[in-house]
Amino acid sequence: MSKHLGVWAYSESSELLFELIGKGRELASKLQTQLTAIVLGHNVTEHAKELIGYGAHKVIVVDDPQLKEFHVETYLSALIPLSKQHKPELFLIGSTKRGKELAARLAARLSLGCVPDCLELEVDEQGRLLARRIVYGGNAIVTQVFRTEPQIVTVPRGKFEKPNYTEESKGEVVNITDIQIETPKTEVVEVKPVSMAETRIEEAEVVVGGGRGLEKKEDSKILEELAAILGGQVGYTRPLAEDRKWFTEWVGLSGHTIKPKLYIACGISGVIQHVAGIRDSNTIVAINKDPEAPIFEMADYIVIGDLYEIVPALSAALKKVLGVGKD
Ligand SMILES: Cc1cc2nc3c(=O)[nH]c(=O)nc-3n(C[C@H](O)[C@H](O)[C@H](O)COP(=O)(O)OP(=O)(O)OC[C@H]3O[C@@H](n4cnc5c(N)ncnc54)[C@H](O)[C@@H]3O)c2cc1C
Repeated sequence: MSKHLGVWAYSESSELLFELIGKGRELASKLQTQLTAIVLGHNVTEHAKELIGYGAHKVIVVDDPQLKEFHVETYLSALIPLSKQHKPELFLIGSTKRGKELAARLAARLSLGCVPDCLELEVDEQGRLLARRIVYGGNAIVTQVFRTEPQIVTVPRGKFEKPNYTEESKGEVVNITDIQIETPKTEVVEVKPVSMAETRIEEAEVVVGGGRGLEKKEDSKILEELAAILGGQVGYTRPLAEDRKWFTEWVGLSGHTIKPKLYIACGISGVIQHVAGIRDSNTIVAINKDPEAPIFEMADYIVIGDLYEIVPALSAALKKVLGVGKD
């Protein structure tokens, strides 16, 4: 069996790919190999050049009209022959919904191992990759090593730093033209946009969190007002989204991971699964009427009281101090 060499990085999300390139470079240097970014799509050469600026030694591009829109079967039909031919030792894939689907199918089709949602990746003294992820509903961190190569891991957004862009960086862009892209077995007949916040919650500098302390969906208005004053966004705990069906997304272990400069947790108990998604926030303010609430253990500032009194009072005070609403 010929030796596997090189670290690969792929994500359809540019920002996540930049982060993977940053981490991939670090791992590649420890493994004494090179970092290659993979770009699949149509008319994507400019994007490929940009990746060299972010630190990729090499970029492999498969540019094909059939790859213009993401379809897991077409993308797989490019990745499978690429992986077989070039034999990377490690393949970092962005943990988006699409990335996870792709990684799992790639691993299954090539009979490989796959570790999803890695929060830490390091190379030990024996040169083994140690992949860490949260298991048992957030109650334990497991460390896994691979028995197969390429080692496939998926990495969520915001876990690793985006590297600086350097115009002078040198690297090679390789266009692969001899891959037969499969026609997918299903066809997309319609795509309807869903209403989305202007900024992704992962990018917000201020997030106001709402939990089961909210009695009615309409009460989220008071959190929205506070978030608007601070130029931030509102995020919720899973019970409000999944159980009460008030919202479609949530923050935490099974939802978004955020690291804003300021997180204001309102009526949130601070259970481990929620904390897993906010623990990298710079400053945490917690408002809770229960003095024993676990969220207070990790908060930088605690406010014991009723969110229905405190949040509007905070908004009013901030409006005054920041001059919001004045001409
Ligand atoms: C596998 C798994 C994955 C999960 N993933 C996630 C996840 O990604 N994200 C997530 O959030 N949860 C997740 N959960 C659920 C998680 O375990 C908790 O149930 C959830 O985080 C609790 O949400 P909460 O804080 O809103 O509610 P509660 O735990 O019920 O807390 C409500 C808090 O509000 C306070 N309160 C009540 N009224 C007021 C008031 N008027 N003013 C001030 N404070 C008030 C209470 O004192 C209490 O502390 C997951 C669970 C499992 C099993």
